[in-house]
Amino acid sequence: MSERAFDSSLNDSVIRTMNQETESSTSKRVLAIPHSVIVRAPGLLPMYYTTSELALEVGVEASRIVRWAKAGAPHRRDGRNHIWISGREFAAWVEETRAAEVGQPMQPGEGYCMRCRAPVEMDGPVLREKQGRKWISGTCPRCGARVNRGVRNGQQTKLPMG
Ligand SMILES: [Zn+2]
Repeated sequence: MSERAFDSSLNDSVIRTMNQETESSTSKRVLAIPHSVIVRAPGLLPMYYTTSELALEVGVEASRIVRWAKAGAPHRRDGRNHIWISGREFAAWVEETRAAEVGQPMQPGEGYCMRCRAPVEMDGPVLREKQGRKWISGTCPRCGARVNRGVRNGQQTKLPMG
């Protein structure tokens, strides 16, 4: 497969793959996030990592990264069905998952600001939908950055469509 074919297949499969993978139910046993991951994830770069690269960066087995991806951690698959994970998306997922595990689930209007590296109450949150995938989009009240938050299948929100 040529380099170009590889790139386009990565782009084409993005949203479709995410929809399929996030439908599976999750359990806390699968998602338990080790301390090393919580500490190191915010330092990940705005690039795509392979599962083994990401595993090295955050200090867990690659097989665990794969299980998290199957349990709903944001990721892409290329034309060879290899998993790629965005460092920033993974960091946001870790923060959201950790918050849920300690009994502080985020509210529909809350999201994780990548610039502030903190959960924030979004300004002007609206529901967006594209190709069957829903997410909430708003603005960080602290720094003005765009904040996006995934919506799980079946999850109800009373936000207006944006
Ligand atoms: Zn911010």
